[in-house]
Formats: sequence, structure tokens, C-alpha cells
Amino acid sequence: MIVSTAGMRSANRRSALWPQHHVNCFIPPHMLKEIAERGSPARRDRALKTLLVSEQFRGQREALTGLPGLATRALVVGKQRHVYDAEYGSTLPGRLARAEGAPATGDPAADEAYDGSGVTYDLYRDVYERNSIDGGGMRLDSTVHYQQGYDNAFWDGQQMVYGDGDEDLPEAERLFNRFTIALDVIAHELTHGVTQYEAKLAYWDQSGALNESFSDVFGSLVRQRVLGQAADEADWIIGAGLFTPRVDGVGIRSMKAPGTAYDDPVLGRDPQPAHIRDYKQVDYDNGGVHINSGIPNHAFYVVARELGGNAWEQAGRIWYVALRDRLEARSDFAAAARITHALAGELYGAGSLEQQAVRAGWAEVGISVEGDDTGNGKSGCLTAPAAALATLLWPPGKVG
Ligand SMILES: [Zn+2]
Repeated sequence: MIVSTAGMRSANRRSALWPQHHVNCFIPPHMLKEIAERGSPARRDRALKTLLVSEQFRGQREALTGLPGLATRALVVGKQRHVYDAEYGSTLPGRLARAEGAPATGDPAADEAYDGSGVTYDLYRDVYERNSIDGGGMRLDSTVHYQQGYDNAFWDGQQMVYGDGDEDLPEAERLFNRFTIALDVIAHELTHGVTQYEAKLAYWDQSGALNESFSDVFGSLVRQRVLGQAADEADWIIGAGLFTPRVDGVGIRSMKAPGTAYDDPVLGRDPQPAHIRDYKQVDYDNGGVHINSGIPNHAFYVVARELGGNAWEQAGRIWYVALRDRLEARSDFAAAARITHALAGELYGAGSLEQQAVRAGWAEVGISVEGDDTGNGKSGCLTAPAAALATLLWPPGKVG
């Protein structure tokens, strides 16, 4: 077989990145790009810095993925958490701030990371009988105060990392609070770890949007369970509390009504579709993984709404078992629909209310549970808009 060198390079790059993990950032690049284009000078610089830091970090991770032993973590029995403090630097994990069982530190970021990773562990253990992220008791490590003015949070393949948002900027300029403030952000990022150990959904196009969606689903479920909310009581907002009052928006995404979470002069408008006919083919954000996740997100919301009661019970179990046992790296939306429908039948009976709800959920977003495969592939957390943006926004002569 003859393969062009360009094709080989591309294939090699792909195999180097996959199935190994990506840095899964919470704030999507399209949002940072909007800020970089429309924000105040300070906000613009910050967004660019966040883009550049994330890109740089991703490069480091990719370089490290080939090293043996890197992913080795202490295996323990029961819930074990370590929270570290990067003290505004970028060395990970940083200084140990709180170990399992230690009293609260008084630092809200450290204590939120501790509590948030704890209740995430609890959902997986208590409801789905899963022992931590890897299923083998992996210790949950988190680092807070990562860099200064870092507007993001990410799972780097081994641990959670949280920026402080805009807490150092003057009040009038702040868009983001510290990232630990939103429990579902914590659970979202930790779920990227679960996906990494289970379905290994490739982080681009439909499989990438599913990867994002599963993180939103379990992010929301952790929050709903802590708040004791049934499906019809929950707001189904992802990242509520993350925006300061200066932002016109209720959160980063809405599972109930994708595309309506925010509409703001600086951040732009929530670009998420709620139906497959509005699927966005874009050449950034790994093919729109944070955008098209609105489609499977909304399907899950409808399933949960149809079933009523606690969404983490039947609906969550079907989604969890799909992620653990059935979905594969290149599964697309149609495959997720077929798999969850089949699983609902296996877990709760053919023709059961659960199975009908799953069918209805996918139907509402335009996907048949008997659907065909329409998946297609393309390529981390940021698809290199940073360098291009820097050129665009810091033209020669204006670089300080
Ligand atoms: Zn994510």
C-alpha cells in the first residue's frame, strides 16, 4: 500500500495522540476566542494567555505520553484525595495542601476541589459501584491556583487542574470566578478520566462530542444528587456560578435548551445545537466537540425528563454502562443511540418505560435508535488557534 508522507505524518500524529489522553479543558476555545476579539485589553491578553498556556501544556503532555511509568498512580482502597496548591505557578502537582481526612484548609479553592472530587467519587461508588476514576481505587489528585489569571480547568490525564479565573482583575473586568466554584465543572473534568479508562472516546468530531457530553451528563448528575434534585427540579445548566454577574448568561451550556446558556457582548452567544440537523461542521475545537455535544446532552435530558425522578438512577445507569462496557473510541451519535437503547432493554426490559424514554430522547434530537453510522474523523483541547490569534491580535509593532 502506498501512503503519502503527509498522510503518514498525519496518521502518526493521530496514533501518537490516540488512544492516549488529551488535556480536556473546560472552557472551549471558541469562547476564549470571542473574549480575545471583543474583550477589554486586559481581558483580551488574558484569553490569549489562557489559549497559549493550554496549547503549550498540551504539547508537553503529548511529549510525555510515550514515557513508561508516567501514568502509574498509587492504588488505594476507598476514597483518597490529595489537593495541591500550585501557588500561582505551573509546576504540577505543587505543594500538598490537603490530604484525605485532613481538616478544611480555609482556602475555598482547595476545599471545593476536595469536596467536589469527594462527591464525584461518591456518585460513581454509591450508584454505579465504581471504585474511583480508573475503577481500581485511583487517588483523586487536584491542583488549585494554577498560574495567575488562568481562565480554565482541565484534566491532564492524571489529575485535575484549576485556574482562579479573573479573581486578580478589577471587579469591573471579571468574567469568570474561580473554577472550583462550580461542582459540575469538577465532576465534568473527573469524568474525562472515567472516559479515558473506559470507552476512550476519541476527542474529535462525534466521538469527541460524545466524550464532552458524557462529562456534562455526569457533571450535572453529581450536582443534582448533591442538591437532591429530581430531573424536573434541576436546571440542567453546566457551569452555573462560574460567570460573574457581569456576564449575560446562566452558565457555559444548557442541556435542557442547548444554545441558550449565554448571549453576551464579550462572550458571544452559546453556539450549541439541540438537533442533528443543526450539527456544526467546524475546523476548530476538534470539530466542535464542545458545540455539538449539545445534541447528545439534550437527548439525555429528554430521557431523564421522560422518566422523571432522579436522573442519576435509571437514565444515569444506562449512560454509565454504555460508557463502561459498550462505547468504543470511534463511536458516533448513532452508535450511542443504538447502544443506550439496547442497554435500556437489557437493564430494564424490552419495551420498558426506560427503553421507550431512550428512544424518545434520541428521536427528539433527530437520531433514530436504529440509525446508521455517519461518523467521520478529524483531530486536543485546543486546535492551535493560539498562534493564529496572537498574530491576528498582536500585529507586528504592537507586541509589547
Ligand atoms: Zn470537557
